[in-house]
Amino acid sequence: MTAHPSVLVVGAGLSGVLAARGVAATAEVTVVEKSRGVGGRLATRRLGPATFDHGAQFFTAQSPVFTSLVTEWLGAGVAAPWFSERLEPDGSTMDDGHQRYRGAPGMTALAKHEARGLHVVTGTCVARLEVEGARWRAVTDAGQALDADAVVLTAPVPQSLALLDAGGVALSDADRHTLEALTYDRCLAVLAVLDAPSGLAAPGALRPASEPIDWLADNHLKGISAVPALTVHAAAAFSLAHWGDTDADVCAALLAAAPLPLVASVVEADVQRWRYAKPTTLHTDRFLMAAGLPPLLFAGDAFGSARVEGAALSGMAVASELRQWAEGSHGTDVRG
Ligand SMILES: Cc1cc2nc3c(=O)[nH]c(=O)nc-3n(C[C@H](O)[C@H](O)[C@H](O)COP(=O)(O)OP(=O)(O)OC[C@H]3O[C@@H](n4cnc5c(N)ncnc54)[C@H](O)[C@@H]3O)c2cc1C
Repeated sequence: MTAHPSVLVVGAGLSGVLAARGVAATAEVTVVEKSRGVGGRLATRRLGPATFDHGAQFFTAQSPVFTSLVTEWLGAGVAAPWFSERLEPDGSTMDDGHQRYRGAPGMTALAKHEARGLHVVTGTCVARLEVEGARWRAVTDAGQALDADAVVLTAPVPQSLALLDAGGVALSDADRHTLEALTYDRCLAVLAVLDAPSGLAAPGALRPASEPIDWLADNHLKGISAVPALTVHAAAAFSLAHWGDTDADVCAALLAAAPLPLVASVVEADVQRWRYAKPTTLHTDRFLMAAGLPPLLFAGDAFGSARVEGAALSGMAVASELRQWAEGSHGTDVRG
């Protein structure tokens, strides 16, 4: 065993980059991400002159640990306040004492900030995970082998389980049962560039009363797009029922249902399909350490608490666990 054990983190969403950052001083860490950039469901993209947050829309900070991370983000200019009152389905607002923040310029900025200086390999999809003696071997879909002493899986849990199944790794019955119980809602998201202001009032977001729309935001009013640009999130039941519809049909249905004044026209639109958008059942702890295998930790927003804050806290908890392992007892039992 080397002085610096190696850790492979699969996924460069917020939980993955925070896990990697937190253990980077005590281990050799590589983060592998299948997309071209970091962020995962903290997703910001361009369409023509417009910029969209099309995954997570905002975040709150409720725990002291996450609040201090958000304070650092505000100081670094990668987060900014957006609005402070809860948006009610009837269009009213309610002061619940929680500031809503956005990434600056967009939500991806948070993950990019936490990934700075780390060894992150993007555009590389792990296809399977195998046990090689007391170590791990991840094999990418291009056939490249990446060996590590410990692995952190931060993809949505069904995707993580598929990597183990593909590599013939047997989880304990208890772990498999726990992990297979974690489920997610889908979300169909429409991104629409408008030729005129959306007509939404400040802060530029709506949470309509019922199906099919769950959330509607104007990224221009949000402060991240040079031109009016709508993100429309379908509710879970609509997303499931219309998952296989064409992009054109999804756009037509959701834009027709958007409660907006008929002033602006859509110049260009696209659809993003989030198969694992938000967890609907959660594991009670901030990560799950697999039993009877070399160190293998499952993490992300399905562990402990959901959403951006939950993903961050999960990544940080994994880092703390792996720091203890790397500093002392690795090679015996990560829980020791
Ligand atoms: C439509 C939508 C709206 C949301 N709205 C909000 C909101 O308003 N507020 C809020 O707090 N939260 C919101 N969320 C939830 C929030 O985005 C997530 O809780 C959080 O971003 C999850 O981070 P994570 O690191 O756990 O997972 P992810 O961000 O999903 O990161 C996992 C990463 O693993 C990568 N990956 C997967 N498989 C592989 C593989 N085989 N090889 C390599 N890489 C792989 C993925 O590409 C991804 O980058 C929303 C999510 C969605 C989709």
